[in-house]
Amino acid sequence: HEAQLFHDHKMAAIGQLAAGVAHEIRNPLGLIRNYTFIMKRSDSDPLLLKKSLQLIDQSVEKASNVIDNLLNFYRLADSDFREINLKTLIEEVVSLNENLMKDHTVYCRLVLHDVSIKTCEASLKHILINLLNNATDAMPQGGQITVSLREKPDTIELRVIDKGMGMSEETREMIFHPFFTTKRSGKGTGLGCYIVYSELVKLKGEIAVISKQHVGTTMVIKLKKAAGDHDEA
Ligand code: ADP
Repeated sequence: HEAQLFHDHKMAAIGQLAAGVAHEIRNPLGLIRNYTFIMKRSDSDPLLLKKSLQLIDQSVEKASNVIDNLLNFYRLADSDFREINLKTLIEEVVSLNENLMKDHTVYCRLVLHDVSIKTCEASLKHILINLLNNATDAMPQGGQITVSLREKPDTIELRVIDKGMGMSEETREMIFHPFFTTKRSGKGTGLGCYIVYSELVKLKGEIAVISKQHVGTTMVIKLKKAAGDHDEA
């Protein structure tokens, strides 16, 4: 019975994913069709041809970005896993995000200590950037984000804590679905949390979401300490 329930859930998610992909790809395809139409009618006007080609290029780029972000096409190889100092990595990402934070008058408080685990640096950065972006967006009036590291016997817990708008129960249940967003169009892609989730699958990590509306959100990332726990050859 439970297995069936899980299966239904998964099928529904796949259906949503397909609908999302169709929608996101149809836009750039439609644009490409328009530009090729213009090109055919251009009477070889070089300026018009050049501009159309540029716009076609952009649309192709957009469509292929959607696919790249969406599907876990690349799997991590053993060589992608290295001993990484998490404190250094977090400090690096946070200072890179500083500009973004300044705009929003959001600042980061770091509660870190030196701890290293064998992990994939690029994946972890990708995760952290997305969590910081969401925490920043959750506090349009500004405020403090806390990023902390906590060591447990077998795991490391990385927390990104904001005192922002928080989420309703319904939103919290949806955030890992691709293309789900509550942000105005043009602002949100709805891919951030999906990316966090798929990167964590690759790292064999876990995420917990603790959120209360008008109070804030805590994202808890759990990473295994033990090295070599991934099965890629
Ligand atoms: P996007 O940020 O483009 O909307 P995400 O997948 O990153 O896409 O997030 C999906 C939704 O989850 C957001 O639109 C927002 O409603 C909710 N969300 C994610 N992180 C937070 C947060 N820290 N605080 C409040 N809401 C959040």
